[in-house]
Amino acid sequence: MKQHRGVVSVVVVVVITAVLWLTATPANPITNLDRIRQTLGGLGLAGMSLCFVLAAKTRPVEAWFYGFDRSFVVHKWLAIGSAGVLAVHVVLREIIGAGSENLVVSLGGLALFLVIAGGAVTLYAKRLPYERWRWIHRLMGLALISGAYHAYSLSAFPLLALSPLGIWMGVLIAVGLVSFVYVVFFYRGVNFRHTGTITDVAKLGNDFTELTITLDEPLRYSHGQYAFLRVFQDGLEDAPHPFSISGGDGKMVTFTIKVSGDFTRDLHDKVQVGTKVALSPPFGHMDFAHGGPRQLWIAGGIGITPFLPYLKENEVTQDIDLFYSFRDKDAGVYADWLAAYAERNPHVAVHLVEFATSGNLDFSDYTLPEGAHIFMCGPLPMMKAYRSYFTEKYPGATITSEGFAFR
Ligand SMILES: Cc1cc2nc3c(=O)[nH]c(=O)nc-3n(C[C@H](O)[C@H](O)[C@H](O)COP(=O)(O)OP(=O)(O)OC[C@H]3O[C@@H](n4cnc5c(N)ncnc54)[C@H](O)[C@@H]3O)c2cc1C
Repeated sequence: MKQHRGVVSVVVVVVITAVLWLTATPANPITNLDRIRQTLGGLGLAGMSLCFVLAAKTRPVEAWFYGFDRSFVVHKWLAIGSAGVLAVHVVLREIIGAGSENLVVSLGGLALFLVIAGGAVTLYAKRLPYERWRWIHRLMGLALISGAYHAYSLSAFPLLALSPLGIWMGVLIAVGLVSFVYVVFFYRGVNFRHTGTITDVAKLGNDFTELTITLDEPLRYSHGQYAFLRVFQDGLEDAPHPFSISGGDGKMVTFTIKVSGDFTRDLHDKVQVGTKVALSPPFGHMDFAHGGPRQLWIAGGIGITPFLPYLKENEVTQDIDLFYSFRDKDAGVYADWLAAYAERNPHVAVHLVEFATSGNLDFSDYTLPEGAHIFMCGPLPMMKAYRSYFTEKYPGATITSEGFAFR
């Protein structure tokens, strides 16, 4: 249930919004079709507001949705749903012939255009640099403001009245606008209070950089968690990027970073010891310490990082099967260390799989120990495949996963 409560809350908000619009008393009589049209407009506004709440990447959202990867999926579908209901709202307006074109009506059209443009960008975003994608997304604030102005000016329902509908929409839109202001103006200032300095940089082959950071104050985190990192060095983007904490405790933390795009390439090539950094609070639910006495760990590529600090910084006494799949020897960061670790600790069995030569991980000969907790981290398609394999073969198996993308 914990993993679904965010989705359930969003559904509840949508249902309450629809019921309030469908049952409210209009200032003047309207047809049923017009009521449906206005309800769809209200749902579009509610959806946009919720999108901003989810985009704010706050701790309550992360905790409530059990991870930003989940809240981002809901965010994406809310945005698509909002665009859909607003489009039908506009079409119904044409069918009903509700009023003439004027500036306030056009503001509603602008909101719809921005939401659809934002949706199109999101679908295209896989090829767009992440920073640019984030900026384009912020135009959605304009969509919410113009859509709200349009609704408050033209709605047949007195939205400014102290009625259930008026209060509900007022609160929803206010929360959406506050979240938007927070995302655009305050997120980077408020959220990055853990400051520190890079005290060591190790290049692990051509594609991996390991940063050791000494923080000004100790960071309290659980092994398996991640934080957003900002790096303040000329020539490097200072936008926050999420990375799992791959080692360290207290004032010292390490991040093991694979080259995946512009920022991580520049970091690999240019980052220097002495550079100042800032971290967000830690996030994530890969809680191995409370994962029970038997665990199956599945790591794909750089998805090995959340597992590392638990092994590095702990006396591990649980029985753990770790399957670590990576392309080839060059891509298997920490593979040698893990093999040596397994020699020292009989509780941890390490299976290294180079998929370029051995193919993908195959669990058909593997029997999941009774009551074992499965932890997974790696590419989203890989996790989706193993999640459905294990839930089908072992109904009721406990699976916790961390995706390395929020889209
Ligand atoms: C929870 C989590 C933990 C992660 N841990 C690690 C780790 O330990 N080691 C590691 O090498 N990588 C990790 N990543 C991935 C890492 O954040 C991206 O590879 C990195 O941000 C890429 O930035 P770029 O500019 O080099 O590449 P880009 O080309 O900009 O991005 C490549 C992909 O990385 C993702 N990404 C980029 N920027 C962000 C951002 N600000 N927020 C969310 N996703 C982004 C996007 O899916 C994008 O498609 C993690 C990601 C997440 C979500």
